[in-house]
Amino acid sequence: MFNQELQKLGAEHSAIRELFEYAIKRKKEIGEENVFDFSLGNPNVPAPACVTEELLRLINEMPPEKLHAYSSSAGIQEVRAAIAQYIENSFGVPMSEDLICMTCGASASLVSVLSALVLPGEEVILPAPYFPEYTVFIGQSGGKMVPVPTDEKFHLDLSAIERAITEKTKAILINSPNNPTGAVYTRGELEGLAALLERVNRTRQEPIFLLSDEPYRELCYGEKPTFPPTVYPHTVVMYSFSKVISLPGERIGYVAVPPACYHAQDLFHAVRGAARHHGFVCAPTLFQRVVAHCQGMTSDLEIYRRNRDLLYGALTDMGYSCTVPEGAFFLFVKALEQDAKAFCARAKRHELLLVPSDSFGTKGYVRISYCVKRETIERSLPAFRALIQEYNG
Ligand code: PLP
Repeated sequence: MFNQELQKLGAEHSAIRELFEYAIKRKKEIGEENVFDFSLGNPNVPAPACVTEELLRLINEMPPEKLHAYSSSAGIQEVRAAIAQYIENSFGVPMSEDLICMTCGASASLVSVLSALVLPGEEVILPAPYFPEYTVFIGQSGGKMVPVPTDEKFHLDLSAIERAITEKTKAILINSPNNPTGAVYTRGELEGLAALLERVNRTRQEPIFLLSDEPYRELCYGEKPTFPPTVYPHTVVMYSFSKVISLPGERIGYVAVPPACYHAQDLFHAVRGAARHHGFVCAPTLFQRVVAHCQGMTSDLEIYRRNRDLLYGALTDMGYSCTVPEGAFFLFVKALEQDAKAFCARAKRHELLLVPSDSFGTKGYVRISYCVKRETIERSLPAFRALIQEYNG
């Protein structure tokens, strides 16, 4: 007999992974160029040159036994210092290397922070649509997920958030730039959220924490996103280098607890304890060094911007309805029938692999990941046209 809950979790594929596996099979059958796989958020733009340069330098200059050694569980001290310095310089928020923990990407950051912070039965407010794995990460902490709808442009609905707050609310988990909608929360909207939380905090012993999941932080097409600790001190930042410098397979990111956060040191110990509890001995040391060197760098974002413009322009011209993504690399499009899964099944017949919004906690939309080759988008357009014509009769 095994843990039934985990057995079920391991046996069931996420909707996204399932499509991705299907795409591999289908490409073998009909040729790669004839399958339009928009399922996975796997960056298609190469990592910036600084990654390879630093890798080569480290391999050539550092003794291997040092290069590949364990680091302290929170990460290499110079790396944490470099990250704290970068945050201070870029955002003007005081940060201490002693409150930075290097992690195996945003997923490990989320699991560690949620386990550290949320006690069984406590609630985590989640603006919907949201990244599906949050369900798993919050679930393992014993916390309760409280999804709250966003407004018609997928920005925060502060009244809905206020209505969702109870005495059990421990945190609100935000993700901007957002997967799956591409929304980037404005400074004004984050200030509004901070004001709301501060107001509620006056009636409580402990503040409500803001958890900021930021794997797309620099992946933004307009103004730079606001760094949430600049508006609300009780924010825990969970960052990842997976998307911004295209290193998803290397599993590297960090948790940063601003010194101004409520009981910052104790919370940080709990995060380290949670990482230990989950068997994260240390984050990959080679890539800790690489990312410390590449902070602030990005893959070529113009490629994503051009993909966004091409796809958004073409689909809206055809009659599809969607808001223009302000960041990340996803287009969130209204399905042409109420049941997004049924719509995706029809799209699949045109070799268009789209993710129904149900797993993002919202009905009636599909997510299109445009981190793909431009030719894939160009070649897919007749299929999108044929699909909408099927509905228009
Ligand atoms: N959070 C969001 C919103 C994401 O979209 C992803 C990955 O797609 C993650 C977290 C996990 O990222 P990582 O590869 O750093 O674990």
